[in-house]
Amino acid sequence: MDLSEILKKENLSREEICFILNLTEQEDIDKLQAAALQTLYNNIGNYIYIRGLIEFSNYCTCDCIYCGIRKSNQKNERFLLTKDEILSCVEWIIEKKFASVVLQSGERRDTDFVEYVVDIVKTIKKISRNDAMPDGLGITLAVGEQSFETYQKFYEAGAHRYLLRIETSNSHLYKSLHSSQQAFEDRIKCLKYLQDIGFQIGSGVMIGLPSQTIEDLANDILFFKNMDIDMLGMGPFIPHFDTPLGVISNNFDAKNQLLLGLKMIAVARLVLKDVNIASTTALETLHSDGRIMGLQFGANVVMPQATPNKYKKNYLLYNKKPVIDEQDDAVFEKMQRDFSNIGRSIAFETWGDPIHFQRKKASSPIATPFA
Ligand code: SAH
Repeated sequence: MDLSEILKKENLSREEICFILNLTEQEDIDKLQAAALQTLYNNIGNYIYIRGLIEFSNYCTCDCIYCGIRKSNQKNERFLLTKDEILSCVEWIIEKKFASVVLQSGERRDTDFVEYVVDIVKTIKKISRNDAMPDGLGITLAVGEQSFETYQKFYEAGAHRYLLRIETSNSHLYKSLHSSQQAFEDRIKCLKYLQDIGFQIGSGVMIGLPSQTIEDLANDILFFKNMDIDMLGMGPFIPHFDTPLGVISNNFDAKNQLLLGLKMIAVARLVLKDVNIASTTALETLHSDGRIMGLQFGANVVMPQATPNKYKKNYLLYNKKPVIDEQDDAVFEKMQRDFSNIGRSIAFETWGDPIHFQRKKASSPIATPFA
């Protein structure tokens, strides 16, 4: 196969995606990176959309064998931010002129939790409306699998984006990573519910899981395309030593894992073109410039952590997750300098909705209601 010819194509086959994911020569990686960046600029532009990430609770009813906040990890001190604590994170986000917030937590489906999330969403909407942002902050939720009715409540309260990773599109691998109560089909059903309700949907996978193949990753990319997702948040798998998968992942190779993560971002950009793609913290864990590298391979979203420092150490999904004080002005200024050094800048005071969703909406005969 000829890389330059493949990179000119409008659509890529599974075999061509595998070919790209198997590239190792620096010269080829450079060509891939340039093509992905060009696709980003042609479809979206060079702006970076920014969201303040609040990891508001690590209580979790799931027992995913890779995840540090899994139910069975008793070493993890559990927390739930109070409403005031969440709102003070939100104030920081507004002050920084980010126009979007992501609320993420472990998975709970009890009424108290659902009502708490609904109340928080409504309150954030209420306090964030001002002249510059008449619709308030854009709100993304990532609180796992819920019922159709719960998702509808979240939407009616004012959330309009939802992130739910499929983790892997290989149903056998999915089964081996989750407890018997967590069915692969349920994850897909939830993504469809969210789409039917009108949410902009984000999904993603972990890259470089033990026993995951290059074909699996190529199928993941095609899965995102078939599901017509709007946003993508993928990151390299990183072992957490207090989890069953972490203790057996002793031949972990950070350099390869980073490269595979970057190639996945690039190929996702080539195939999905106008979706939002996040440059995730997991990349930063593998390399101090990991997040910038993700942007250079075609990502266009960054989510600085707005979670209070004292809780960050308890939201360790994987080992060595950076506990950086992104609320520190000097850290924030450095991040902006890093962006400008690669010719990019933050789009402030705009929700930064995925162009993909906007195009879908424009071509759909039924207008999607906005909260
Ligand atoms: N329950 C929430 C969010 C918590 S976990 C939700 O459903 O969105 C958020 C994501 O962290 C998971 O979807 C998973 O892809 C990722 N993650 C968990 N453990 C990880 C690990 N060891 N390495 C890399 N990513 C991990």
